[in-house]
Amino acid sequence: MKSFDYDALAGRIVFGLGKRSELADEVRRLGASRVLLIADPHDNERLHEFRELLGDLCVATYTDVVQHVPRAKASEAIALAREFRIDATVSMGGGSATGFSKAVALELATPQLCVPTTYAGSELTPIWGMSEGGEKRTGRDLRALPATVIYDPELTIGLPVEIAGPSAMNALAHAAESLYATGANPVTSLIALEAVRVLSQHVPLMCATPGDIEQRSYVLYGAYLAGATLAVAGTDLHHRTNHILGGLFNLDHGKMNAVVLPYALAVNKPAIVDSYARLSDVLGGDAASAVYDLARRINAPRSLAEIGMPSDGIEAAVPLVVEASRQNVRPLNEIQARNFLRAAYEGSPLDESLLGLSDP
Ligand code: NAD
Repeated sequence: MKSFDYDALAGRIVFGLGKRSELADEVRRLGASRVLLIADPHDNERLHEFRELLGDLCVATYTDVVQHVPRAKASEAIALAREFRIDATVSMGGGSATGFSKAVALELATPQLCVPTTYAGSELTPIWGMSEGGEKRTGRDLRALPATVIYDPELTIGLPVEIAGPSAMNALAHAAESLYATGANPVTSLIALEAVRVLSQHVPLMCATPGDIEQRSYVLYGAYLAGATLAVAGTDLHHRTNHILGGLFNLDHGKMNAVVLPYALAVNKPAIVDSYARLSDVLGGDAASAVYDLARRINAPRSLAEIGMPSDGIEAAVPLVVEASRQNVRPLNEIQARNFLRAAYEGSPLDESLLGLSDP
């Protein structure tokens, strides 16, 4: 057996229907009494509910949350946190709200309690991201790791299928890539495979019956497992590409994930024989094809063109993907990167000869 190093990450998870009612107790458990509530603007009633749940613990609220954490907006949230001398942040929303909370935590070293309402998984990781001038920078810092996460599936019931499906594909991508990313170990792989099993089984059911709280609960549980493995194992071609495209073209993160994952798996296939076989085993067929079919079954977007990437964007992204792929299991040359991006741009069938990637 291969030896491995494993830095297990600490964090408290509170999972269950209605668990948001324990929010104030969980804040006190962190020893905090002056909270900045960072809430995504999707639901005013929910925001009101969270203010009530926090009561006097909430001293300020920031709601101008947008995707990819633009530096200028993060600075606004940080300034608010300083002005109100906060001692913790509570975020409620998707990965974007979590991202703003991380930006504050990095500056003020304040603990974070996250209440996710999508399947992004960022709440489990010490990975931060920030965008500026068409570039999204990411990094790893333990100050960005949330202390407590409350998973309440009731908060996801209103998440429309058009967002929920791609967001769950993002979770699936975390689990899939964490099987072969540099930090993978036998424990993270065990969790990752269970995440793939739960997500591949329940995402189509959740999309077919969006009001079924049981399916929502399983998908949220799968997203939790996937985020936990991402946090330790890290990422590879798929996520690096999404960060490049997100920074360049401000594309929706979940939708990009749904489009790019099958192509990224197909590209990496020759370099990840064991992981690919385990993934295929859980998915019940060739991994890239199974993910491609799953995305189509849930009516997720099929191509980067469909989600707004400009046609001349491929050439802009090629050198960045080549550069980023140097740390991947399979570094790509310019031709391979262009073929990979073009296939995802067009939503081409998963034909290895068409991808032009079968040769090393
Ligand atoms: P998001 O947070 O931007 O949310 C997507 C949309 O869903 C938004 O319009 C939001 O208002 C809406 N929404 C959220 N919850 C809702 C609900 N319950 N009902 C109705 N609408 C709701 O997108 P996301 O996909 O959750 O997160 C994407 C961001 O997270 C990206 O910036 C990505 O890079 C980041 N991310 C970071 C990590 C990490 O480890 N650092 C991991 C995953 C994702």
